[in-house]
Amino acid sequence: MDTLVVQTRCTRETCARTETALMAELAQGQHPVLLYIGCSDSRILPSHILDAHPGTVFTMRNIANIVPPYTAAQQGETAVAAVLEYAVLHLHVADLVVCGHSHCGGMQALAHIEALEPGLRQWLQYAQDAQTHIPAEMSGAVQLDALIEANVLLQLEHLRSYPFIAEAERAGTLRLHGWVYDLASERVRAYEAEAGCFVEEAPFSV
Ligand SMILES: [Zn+2]
Repeated sequence: MDTLVVQTRCTRETCARTETALMAELAQGQHPVLLYIGCSDSRILPSHILDAHPGTVFTMRNIANIVPPYTAAQQGETAVAAVLEYAVLHLHVADLVVCGHSHCGGMQALAHIEALEPGLRQWLQYAQDAQTHIPAEMSGAVQLDALIEANVLLQLEHLRSYPFIAEAERAGTLRLHGWVYDLASERVRAYEAEAGCFVEEAPFSV
């Protein structure tokens, strides 16, 4: 714990030296341009993926980058709904990213969801429909990669079930993106609707 505290202090000192003016400005308020919805996996650093600076990315992370559908939010599953409402209706982010990742333990756990503890079982049910899109002949790593992609698309569907998100997308004030981050290569593949598949993105910065 001591090491972590020291590291955190060093990071803050470095940040304060290099971004004093920026942080002083950000203290007055945030104006992020993007909402990132990603997995809680410890190997993922959203700011690293996005090459992001403080103040640019509003972030929500949970197991398997899940967005419960609007019907679930209406029945009390409101943690994600609250983030969506704040990011879209109050912060007016222009882009919303659902980012899955390779080797996702949450996705692997879907195969034995009935054996999981109640919290995990209840949560991962919002990803279960992704399995219906996987051809029966697939197996192993290929199957997992396909499931990870299908889950990203499923969560985009769930996002569009929220009336204010569907409306903002129709109005052209909000763009939805589906990404998969590869742990080994550190590259992002983004879903291209016209091509109907995920294609590698050029490095970017927000
Ligand atoms: Zn994961």
